[in-house]
Amino acid sequence: MKTAAGSVTGLRCLACNAFYPPELLYRCTACAGILEVERAKPFRRWDPSDFVREEVTLGEGGTPLRQVPSSLLHPDFRGALLVKDETRNPSGSFKDRLVAAALSRAIEFGASGIVSASSGNAGAAAACYAANAGIPAIICCPETTPHGKLAQIMAYGATLERVSGHYGNSFQRAMELCDQHGYVNLTTTYLNPYGVDALRLVGQEIFEALGGILPGWISIPTSSGPLVKGVFQGFLDTAEQVPRLVAAQSEGCAPIARAFAGGQDTVEPWELPQTIASGISDPLQGYPEEGSHTLSLIRKSGGEAVAVPDNYIKDAMVALARKAGLFCEPTGATSLAACRRLFSEGKIGMPDTVVCIITGHGFKDFSAWSDVEAHGIPS
Ligand SMILES: [Zn+2]
Repeated sequence: MKTAAGSVTGLRCLACNAFYPPELLYRCTACAGILEVERAKPFRRWDPSDFVREEVTLGEGGTPLRQVPSSLLHPDFRGALLVKDETRNPSGSFKDRLVAAALSRAIEFGASGIVSASSGNAGAAAACYAANAGIPAIICCPETTPHGKLAQIMAYGATLERVSGHYGNSFQRAMELCDQHGYVNLTTTYLNPYGVDALRLVGQEIFEALGGILPGWISIPTSSGPLVKGVFQGFLDTAEQVPRLVAAQSEGCAPIARAFAGGQDTVEPWELPQTIASGISDPLQGYPEEGSHTLSLIRKSGGEAVAVPDNYIKDAMVALARKAGLFCEPTGATSLAACRRLFSEGKIGMPDTVVCIITGHGFKDFSAWSDVEAHGIPS
């Protein structure tokens, strides 16, 4: 059977350019830099089976790109607004794409179990795919993780370890557990290069769904930023150019947007994340270079990194549900909230085509919906 390693030629360090064979490696052994999967050329169109093994896939990816009312962005916006609905993945978030690919490779490396540090969605994805593959999973989550996400992780039968403090502590704990048990680390920052690699498909899917036309903007809820990289690479692979990408963050945790606004090339870790958007509450403590890499891709695309307040995020979340029938968690709506701000600042123009990626389902975080008022009966 075809392996998920199909066209993989090796791993390349983004910092020092060192090259490694396609082995299980999380960081450059020479300089601790981020590793990127290199694939044989010429490849212009990827197939999901280039990344995910047949016995691992649960039908992730291939999510709909659909047009929604332009007024969702702004009443004066006259362009096209589309949503890439990643809530439709098997465990309800785009993390299924990374986990399916990283687990496929982990199985090829003979993994006896997996570990994932997660703010919730990646953990749910890892628990889901591990259950189907019949291998044990340990998920490390911050104590502040929404109950819905924790319940989902436990429902799939994974071992859940709640770790005090912010996401960085869970990240460190997952590394310890991998060493202790000899398990493969499926954490979905830039840590596992095989997971990140599969996100190329997101860019490719958007380009193909638009009939081979480059949109003006693609807005992406952003933590450390693998999804930014995936969209960037996917467009480069298939379109040979990249639309302007938006890294959408919450003002309560915006290390990349802060560096962008300050004209810096390097991202500094955030101090204390405080936001309703739990999926993008990673302060990047311990690996700020991941944010710096994402920032460089945003700049290369001619795009923007934007921080929005939580009330903008909540307004966007409610608008998506009520005007587009799309029920998402706060993190998922951050992409639209950021575009609303860019429009009001005159950066997004009247005739632009804007794509917002909606990353996670509303069932993930019911508490975020609990204070949303019901509409009265229309008179
Ligand atoms: Zn290196």
